[in-house]
This record gives sequence, structure tokens and C-alpha cells, in this order.
Amino acid sequence: MTSPAINQAMGILRLLRQITQVQDEISVRLDKIMGMIVEQMQADAGACYVAIDDNYLELFAAYGFNQNIAHKVTLRFDEGLVGDVASNRRTLAVSDAWSHPKFSYKPEMGEEKYKSFVGVPVTRLGRTIGVITLQSLETHEYTAFEIEILETISMFMSELLSSDEMNAYKTRLIRERGQASKEKRKGLPLSKGYGLGQAVIHRRRQIITKIFAENKEAELQKLEFAHTQMNKDLDEKFDAAKIGIGEHVDILDAYRMFAKDKGWYKKIVDNVNSGLTAEAAVERSYEDMWKRLSGTEDPYLKERLHDLRDVADRLLGYLRGESSGTKVLSEDIIVIAQTMGPADLMDYDYQKIRGLVIEDGTPTMHVAIVAKALNIPVVAKIKGLFDEVKNGELIAIDGNEGFVYIHPGKAIQEKIRTKIAEKKELQAKLEKLRELPAVTKDGVKVNLYINVGLSFDLDYIESTNCDGIGLYRTEIPFMASEVMPDVDRQQKYYQDLMDRAGDRKVVFRSLDVGSDKLLPYWSNTGEENPAIGWRSIRITLDRRAILRKQMRAFLRAAEGKELNVMFPMISNLAEFEDAKETLMLELEKEKRRGNGIPSKVNVGLMVEVPSVVFQLEEILKQADFISIGTNDLAQFVFACDRGNPRLAERYDVLSAPFLKMMQKIITQANDAGVYCSVCGEMAGNPIEALALIGLGFRNLSMSGSSIGRVKTMIRTLKVEDIEDYISILLKSNKRTLRPQLISYANDHGIEIY
Ligand code: PEP
Ligand code: MG
Repeated sequence: MTSPAINQAMGILRLLRQITQVQDEISVRLDKIMGMIVEQMQADAGACYVAIDDNYLELFAAYGFNQNIAHKVTLRFDEGLVGDVASNRRTLAVSDAWSHPKFSYKPEMGEEKYKSFVGVPVTRLGRTIGVITLQSLETHEYTAFEIEILETISMFMSELLSSDEMNAYKTRLIRERGQASKEKRKGLPLSKGYGLGQAVIHRRRQIITKIFAENKEAELQKLEFAHTQMNKDLDEKFDAAKIGIGEHVDILDAYRMFAKDKGWYKKIVDNVNSGLTAEAAVERSYEDMWKRLSGTEDPYLKERLHDLRDVADRLLGYLRGESSGTKVLSEDIIVIAQTMGPADLMDYDYQKIRGLVIEDGTPTMHVAIVAKALNIPVVAKIKGLFDEVKNGELIAIDGNEGFVYIHPGKAIQEKIRTKIAEKKELQAKLEKLRELPAVTKDGVKVNLYINVGLSFDLDYIESTNCDGIGLYRTEIPFMASEVMPDVDRQQKYYQDLMDRAGDRKVVFRSLDVGSDKLLPYWSNTGEENPAIGWRSIRITLDRRAILRKQMRAFLRAAEGKELNVMFPMISNLAEFEDAKETLMLELEKEKRRGNGIPSKVNVGLMVEVPSVVFQLEEILKQADFISIGTNDLAQFVFACDRGNPRLAERYDVLSAPFLKMMQKIITQANDAGVYCSVCGEMAGNPIEALALIGLGFRNLSMSGSSIGRVKTMIRTLKVEDIEDYISILLKSNKRTLRPQLISYANDHGIEIY
């Protein structure tokens, strides 16, 4: 049965269609449409705002307000009630607008006399392209029924506001006002590297032109056919793509499951049964989900929304009978997308992709992880680019700094080509370095390990020829998984890792979640200070079963081999002993079960909470090894959020307070004969690693991509000299000792690049 709201909306839309068929100028038509909507909805005034870009809206048509007000009122997204509707992409109905905290009075409008307000976003492809508002003289509570009508009308308005005619009208206005577009854009770099190529606009998404079904059965049939075909093609495409192994493969598999999700499909069928076409039903089911999930802070759920958008678009493409493959003739392409799912990359010959630019996007975005694994530079968050760039235009991308150049001039093209060549050269240099030991000029060996999170980090084991894995962040497979991995699944992860590492040392860290690392299947606890809240070992000691299972998986994975386990965020000896005991009890249980056990078990902790430094002597008697997590340690020592860009330059680990603390730790560890390493970012930055070696550190663990640069520095360094220099520097009270260390390196021929 068709819903009554949809029935009424259909009546109104029939009238509106008649207006759009008249050959008036678009601005005149828009005025008439607004008048009609106000009348039909029995309101007293109404307005249509159009998004000029993703930052501000302009009043394009008004009814019941001051004369000739169109184009004289602009609002930022987020400004006033209208801005709130635009930025949140949510309908807002208030019976007395003046009493609403977000209300912003625009005297030029002449809206003093109106009380109630309802604003409905007009969206297209997930972006707000306009807002329609209605106002009444009396206070009025808008009913769900009225809102449903308005939201259906808004789908029709989306057609009009995104038409070529409207775009031409907007462009004309912008040109007349002299708002020319810039050709260099700054975005968020998500995957490093440089690229030059022709733009390919990833434009699968199109507007829905037909909203109401004439023949329900035919729509259902069409839907079923498209859904089946899409899943069949996805299976074939993924099976055929040879993109190695790694977490990006897990992501693609999860995506495939999502496309087959029965609950989602049922919602679409229900929407068709309520009177919508298959296409409108897909869009509506996405919008419903979006409304429910968009408020979430949970990055994982946000990612799911991206995937849902992508699957919905893919299905819409099939409903229109478009094939999913994209034929591209150019050898070098830069893909420009508004948003993109991981499977979309498979639609192109990814060997030809020299860069990817996404208007939306977050560092955890699945397509960015897949692109990174494929060595494709990615820049995100450049608003407006998707509509601006045309297929075939020359684009340059700088994934290191996050710049995108449209029609780059000769100089920029040259610069990017040089960077590409330099990267190749550096790659070649690093490959040569692979065979050379990390030994200083005066013969001191420094052990270099890699930090592993995503599976493709494992490739660095061979490519760098490192001494092992100094930190395995076990939370990453937990984060990538839909449900908590059981012991067998974990065992398999850890076993694969140990197999890849061969005879090299591997240090497992127990689950370090909470704060910035959230698990999809645990709700956010909503703490005010998550970095110093219930996180890491504090969670796993409270949820002991999780810790026990992980320990069991470690023990089983390391059967017959040496097992190194460390616990993160330990704050005192008692906590370490408690965690260690859990491991030892599991070891005993494994023996009793008659299971094979590791040849040796070493238990250590991460030094990242300052209190530990003041109990180090006692702790070193109980620990087999320690590893300093300088990322967290520095944030707690300086009381400075590690992720806050405003503070990034304020405190430096290369300063006396921090270096003295590091010196205290290494000296005590050496005196106690306990193995000590550094596994925070500090170890992977050549100038910081230089200081660490000067302080006495001989074990550094870092991201695989840093090994080459650190090894180069080590091979050009004389330890004796830097030790002397550091002891002088420690007396300095300067905010940072970085400039001094850089000068030292330059004066002594130490290569830091
Ligand atoms: C650290 O804190 O330095 C560390 C290595 O751990 P993570 O960055 O995973 O918190
Ligand atoms: Mg840490």
C-alpha cells in the first residue's frame, strides 16, 4: 500500500512538475515553486536556499518575505537554523524559532512576524545542495506526516537544484561576482607520494529522476536482478584482483559481505512496497541509515556509512543498467571522487592510477588503506573539486604535503616529475642499503626493528632486512574485524606473523585499545579524557577473559619458539605483576592441557606512563625487557595531547627534560642488564634517533618506511662524538635542542634526510 504522505506528496509534485515545464527562467520558476509549496503546505512564508559551495548558502527564492530579497542573504553552513539544517543534513522543525538557541536574526528578510519554522535539507549524492524552509505566523508543531511530505518534495527539488541549468545559473552568478576558482588546493594527505595524470571523474552517482513507482512488481523484479548481478560481479572482480595479502584484503571481504547483507536488502524491498521506485528506495534506505548513524563519534561506524554509500551507489548503477567496469584510455590517471568505497578502485586498472583525490575522507577511510597498500598517493577533504574538474584535465598530486594542482603549469609539472624520479632513486638507494649493516663509523651496532600494525607492514621485514618486529600492535586486527576475534583466529594472525618473521625477534604487545583506538563492537564509553581514561591494560585487566584469550593465542602461536609479550600503559609494578601473572597462569594451563609451549617466554612492559620511571629499579627486577613508547610518554610528561595540532610545535622531545628522562631509563636498564628499546615515533626520525644513540640506546623500533633513513644516519655517525655532545646539550635550558643537533649532524657529515 502506498503511504498517505507519499500520496499527498505525489499530488503536490504533480503541480510542481507543471511549473517546471513552463519555459520561464530558472529563477522565476523557483519563485513560483516556493509559492506553490507554501500554499499547499498551508504555511505563510517559504524560502529556498542554494549551497554555493560546501561552506555557504545563498537565498535564491523567497515567498512571504521582503520584496527582492533573493540573492541578498547568505548564510554559513552552521549559521542559524537554516545553516544547522545544511550542516547536519537533517530536518529541523521548531514551533517558536525565536526561542531556539541557534536562531540568527536576519533583519533584511522581514521575518519578525513569523513564529514556527521547518527546514528540510535538499541533498544530492550525500551533500547538502540547498535548504527549503517554511514559516508560519502562529506557533505550529510540525507533524511527522507533514515532514515526510516535505522530505519527499525535497527529493524533487534535488533534481532541480542539481540540474545543468541551475549549475549554469550559479556559475554565471559566481563569474559576475568575480569569484574565480583557485588552481592549487590544500587537502588532507592520506597516502604519500607524487603523481601526474589525467583526471578521471569517478561519477557513478547520479540523481534519482523517478521517485514513485508505477508498477511495483516490475520495480521489485528489477531490484532483485540488479542486486544479484552486482554481487556476482563483485565476487568475480575481487577474486580476480591480485593485490597481495593484508588488511586491505580483509576490508574488501567485509565490503563484499556488506553488499550481501539481508537486512539492508529487506529495507529496500519495504521501501518499494511503500510506493517508491527501486532507485528511490535504495536512496531512502541509505538516508534512513545515515540519519541513525551520522551522529556517531565511532570512526568504525562512520567507515561503515562510507561502505554503505558505496554499495548503494553501486546498486543504483546496476539498476540503471550501467556496467561497473570503467574503461580508461590514458596510461596515467588521477581519480577524482566525491567519496569512494574500497571496491571502486577495482573498477579501474589500478596499475594506471597515479593518484586519488577524495572530497570527503578520513585517515581510516577504507579506500585510503587499500590505496596505500597499492602505493597510490591520496589527498582528501578538498571541497568542491569533484564538481569543478572535468574528465581528461591534467592534475598533479602531492600526497606528502596534501596539495592538488588543477592544470598545473610547466614549473609544477617539472617539480612533480622530479619528485617522482627522486622517490624512485631513493627507493633504489634503500634497496642497496638493505644489504648493509646498521653499524656506526666507530663500529657500534644498532639493532633496527619495525613496528607492525597493518599486515602489509610485514613486507618491510624483507625489504629492509631488519632485525625483527619490535612492536606488533595487536589491536589493528581487532579493529578491522566485525566481532572480537576468537583464540583460533588470533592464533592464526600471530602465527602468520611469526612465520613471516622467521628467525627474527618478534615482540607482541597485548591489546592496546581505547582512547584513539576504538573497537567496532565496544561502545564508546564517552569519557571526558579518554587518553588518560579506561584504556589499554586498564581495560584488559578489568575484562580479564579478553587478556587470557590473547595470552593463550600468543602461547599457541609461538609453540617451540621464543615468545616476547609486553603490556602497554603500565602505571606501576603491581599492575605489571598482575598482567604477567595472567600470562603465566595461561602458560601453566597450556602445559596441563598437554599443548606445546614456547621454548622461552619473556615478559616486558611499555614505559609510557611517567610513574613507571620512578619505580623502575623495582620493575627492572621483574621484567625481562622494557620498550619506551615515546608517543604516549611525551604526551604525559608534557601534559600535551599527542593528536592536537595546535600543540605539535610547542614541546619537543629533543629538549633537556625529556632527554634526561630517557637517559635515566636507559642507564638504569643497562645497569640492571635488562634489554631496553624505543618503539615510539622518536626512534624513526633520524635526528631524534641520533640523540637516542647518543644517550646510549642500541635498540630502535620504527615504522618500516623509516628504516632506510635511520640506517643511513647510523652509518655516517661516530657514537663517541655524539655521546660527548649530548652530555653538553643536556645542560641547556632551551625549549628545543633540535637546531643544535641538526647543525651538529651537518657539521659532522651525518646524513639526515
Ligand atoms: C607509543 O605510545 O609510543 C607507542 C609506541 O604506542 P602507540 O603509538 O601504539 O600508542
Ligand atoms: Mg602508546
